Amino acid sequence: MSATGLCAVCGEGNAEYTCDRCGSLVCERHYEPSLGYCVECAGEVGGGRQTNGNDQPENGDTYQF
Ligand SMILES: [Zn+2]
Ligand SMILES: [Zn+2]
Repeated sequence: MSATGLCAVCGEGNAEYTCDRCGSLVCERHYEPSLGYCVECAGEVGGGRQTNGNDQPENGDTYQF
């Protein structure tokens, strides 16, 4: 009896992590423990590409130290 399932990325049956963003079940190789996301979500949120909904303005005129 295994509690694991098929990895949503590679399709192998040793997935034991759940992405905290999309909820996909992924294996250790396709999970980013530092983020709690699968590699696909980690690539979206950590790849420097900003998606809609971020509250940081692109125009940095208001930055001050
Ligand atoms: Zn995998
Ligand atoms: Zn994900």
